Amino acid sequence: MYSKRVTKSARSRTNLSKHSSMGTLHVVGAVALATTLGLAPLPAANAASAPVLGEAEVTAQTNPDSESIELSERANRKISGKLPNGDNFKLPPVGQAPFPTSANSPGLPGSQAASNVVEPAPPYVPQTSCDPGEKKGIKAFKALVMSTYPAGRDWGSSRNCTDDGTSEHLEGRAWDWNVDVNNPTQFTQAGQLLGWLTADGGANAKRLGIMYIGYNYRIWGAYRASEGWRALSNSNPHTDHVHFSFTWNGARKKTSFWTGKVKSNDYGPCRIYQGQPAPLRAGKNSSPCPPAAQLPNAWGSAGLLWRGSTGSLVATAQSKLGATQSGTFDASTAKAAAAFQHRAGIPATGAVDAATWFALGMGEPVSKVKRSLKKGKRGKDVKRLQRALRMNKKKRDGRYRKSTVRAVKSWKRANGLRPNGRASKSFQRSLGL
Ligand SMILES: [Zn+2]
Repeated sequence: MYSKRVTKSARSRTNLSKHSSMGTLHVVGAVALATTLGLAPLPAANAASAPVLGEAEVTAQTNPDSESIELSERANRKISGKLPNGDNFKLPPVGQAPFPTSANSPGLPGSQAASNVVEPAPPYVPQTSCDPGEKKGIKAFKALVMSTYPAGRDWGSSRNCTDDGTSEHLEGRAWDWNVDVNNPTQFTQAGQLLGWLTADGGANAKRLGIMYIGYNYRIWGAYRASEGWRALSNSNPHTDHVHFSFTWNGARKKTSFWTGKVKSNDYGPCRIYQGQPAPLRAGKNSSPCPPAAQLPNAWGSAGLLWRGSTGSLVATAQSKLGATQSGTFDASTAKAAAAFQHRAGIPATGAVDAATWFALGMGEPVSKVKRSLKKGKRGKDVKRLQRALRMNKKKRDGRYRKSTVRAVKSWKRANGLRPNGRASKSFQRSLGL
């Protein structure tokens, strides 16, 4: 599907994204890790499926306003878009809609939400895991948009995890809608849909679980709806497509538009280590993720292979995982990796991350782990395990008793693993021991 997308604009988009200022993203960090360790660089994003946005949200968090202000001043002088009468569209100031607004948009049909039912503003929850399969809420939203506003085209939802950017595409909870600002029909229909979504504090966007929208030099976030269309501090101005990112509830079709009911927030899977993917979603997470820990020194150097990685290391990993040796990390490799991780008792990320790298024997960990541990064992290594599990200091007594069993189980449950109370060698290494 993506090969059809190799257009002039898609190519220039990729070129632009090379100048992205978002060097602090986790995905980039992971690739940089692999590169500094002398591994074959992971493949660059396919030009046709280059991700894009959200991207901006991370910058906005780590990098204060200066960039946004500069961009907004430049954008204020900008003509961007063509209207049906042949006139140019001049971008209004930041805060206002970057598209022609129309009072008579039909909006999307079929909402189950009563007029007084609407979700509160969702938190910003960026992607953390490598889980690109298109989620069913995206599929349903896309079908409704395409049938109601037929001028645009589907630019897809799912992306390889080797693509850079925090766009939620890598979790299958984003969608790119190809509506070019220089195509008057597409531009008008984009305005109709986006106007309907963002009216009344974004009530319809919230009912659909839309987290943020990027279009025509601007970004609108349901979590910052009162600010309207803010400057998009992304190297890609998003003039040829709208980017939609969804909350987990929206992606899973669990919002009031679909069900008539308001569900509480789902914060998604939490990253355990910086630069490493989070475990695949194993269930609802009702609280915000704590900060991720630094990658333990005990691991020394390890690579990161995941959906979209190619090359001989992938083939090696595939043979160790018992997966088809194609040299391309695809969905079936991810499934084999997750199954192996479950057996080994390490975080089930579906990627060959640092813990898996060593568990597969693809590198020598600088590890103190000598034996597997279970109830009844005692020693310094039990104490180290208790510390790594962040058990209460008073309980770190070097004895593997009920409290340690409980701590191991709850750690495993939180990381998408079968919650038994044993600590295998690979499990201990996955804690950086
Ligand atoms: Zn996108």
